[in-house]
Amino acid sequence: MFVQRHSIGTRLNLIIGVIFGLYLIVVSAVGYVMYRQYDGFSNLASTHFGRAMAAAELTRDAEIIAAEVFEIMVGSRRSISAGNQRTENLASLYQTARDRLEQLGATEQLDSQTRAELERWQEPFFESLSQLGDQLDREESLRVFQLQRFDELFLLLQQLPLDSLNSFSTNEHLFVSHALAALTSAAAGMSAERPGHIEQLEKSCRQSIQRMQALPMDDIKWKRLAAKFDLVLPATFESRQPFLQNARATLATARHTRVLAQKLTSATYNYHLQLKASAQEAIADYQRLIRHSLLGLLLSSLALIAVTIGAILYIRRHIVSRINRLSHAMQDHLNGNPVPIPQSGQDEISVMGATFSVFVDARREAERQLETANQHLHQVNQNLKELSVTDALTGVYNRRQFDQKLEQEWRRARRQGENLALIMADVDLFKRFNDAFGHQQGDSCLRRVAQEMLSQLNRSGDIIARYGGEEFIILLPGLDLQQAAQLAEKLRSVVYALNIPHHSPSGRVTISLGVAAEVPCQERRMESLVHDADQALYSAKDQGRNRVCLSAPEVSE
Ligand code: GH3
Ligand code: MG
Ligand code: MG
Repeated sequence: MFVQRHSIGTRLNLIIGVIFGLYLIVVSAVGYVMYRQYDGFSNLASTHFGRAMAAAELTRDAEIIAAEVFEIMVGSRRSISAGNQRTENLASLYQTARDRLEQLGATEQLDSQTRAELERWQEPFFESLSQLGDQLDREESLRVFQLQRFDELFLLLQQLPLDSLNSFSTNEHLFVSHALAALTSAAAGMSAERPGHIEQLEKSCRQSIQRMQALPMDDIKWKRLAAKFDLVLPATFESRQPFLQNARATLATARHTRVLAQKLTSATYNYHLQLKASAQEAIADYQRLIRHSLLGLLLSSLALIAVTIGAILYIRRHIVSRINRLSHAMQDHLNGNPVPIPQSGQDEISVMGATFSVFVDARREAERQLETANQHLHQVNQNLKELSVTDALTGVYNRRQFDQKLEQEWRRARRQGENLALIMADVDLFKRFNDAFGHQQGDSCLRRVAQEMLSQLNRSGDIIARYGGEEFIILLPGLDLQQAAQLAEKLRSVVYALNIPHHSPSGRVTISLGVAAEVPCQERRMESLVHDADQALYSAKDQGRNRVCLSAPEVSE
């Protein structure tokens, strides 16, 4: 009756689906962002601390190289000729190492505290390195000074007339050989480091000089040269002492520097290891946090899904399905199928069901009352109908109903070619009865006579009607004249047998009857049949009453 275009259940599913879809999008976005953070943090941390470890390794490499160079420089393999170059290499190597460290620090954007700590470790090392450089410079200047002296003495020796050397006298040869011995001792003293060895060489040098001076030379220039040797060469031994002290100090400084370098290296390396460990710990913590967060997100999502599904099932079971049941029950009622109305629960839906049930009950009660009223009305109608066809006094059919029945039966008998009989009965001397016993007794008498005759009619088509006053007419379809006459005689006798007292010749109420019958045909009219019966009745009256007269064919013709 009512068209349902939308379903609450479908709309509910749609709403829940939209909410759930939005939640999934948000959760996916959060999960994706966290995953990207996790990934990015891992990459960043591994790159950062990889570089830090590279810096530490670089520091250590620099220290190892530097230590090697120190060792060469201050060890037994050190030589004067290579000294300058090694010093330069050392300085450039450390400058490079320092530059690279600073560069790494800058690229890694170390925080101020870390930078200060690195500076604190590096400072004594580089300070010591500069002291070492100073020491080496001093040593180098001393060495240069002494070499200049040697050069001067060799120059003087070279100024001797070499071409005439072969013609030298023995004294001159001795002079030159002593000079060379003195120079050799002085030169050996330059590289000797043990104090006893130096003293021995100095003594040898001085002896050679003394021998030079002791030679009886003629020319003054030999004397001057010997004096120059005496002035210069012992002085080299005198300057050797501070030189040695300086070299020892240089060595000590170099070793101290090396120790500091080792300390710096191990401190830096340990610092980086510590940094790496703390970074790995931080990464692990962060990864754990992310894992826990993702797990929490997953669990909360699952919980939300479960709660949502539970809510859907609850709403479906306790609201939607009940509303649907109620709706279907209402539709069934509207379609005339009175199914039970669901009223379970104590909420709005049960109230709706109960309310609808009240309306249904009210409607059912109204229908019942209407049915009762209809039945009553039907009864009244039936009564009215009966009243309209029944004679009120006697209870048999009235004249109008007789006329209709006669017309029906007349047509049917004519159609089927069957007999139709009529009996006209009239109470004898009834005016006298009224006069004698009153109209009420007369009415009662009429009723008894009518009912008695009615009781004799056993066939379904037979009817008796009150024709008027105290006259009755009996319609007998299918009976011929003789059969109708027999019935008329029987009617007469039963009325007689009623023995209703009357001031008549027989002393009781009697009836006279006229019988007529025929097979209706086209030429005859049904009024003729009534007329024939009436004529027969008159005949019965004329012949003394309380008798039956038949309508003779010649009479009807
Ligand atoms: P007959 O034997 O010739 O028929 O004589 P009768 O007196 O019966 O005939 P009449 O026609 O002279 O009288 C008929 C009487 O029937 C007259 C009337 O008072 C009486 N009658 C007619 N209808 C009724 C009725 O409904 N109730 C009563 N009590 N009497 C009626
Ligand atoms: Mg009469
Ligand atoms: Mg009469």
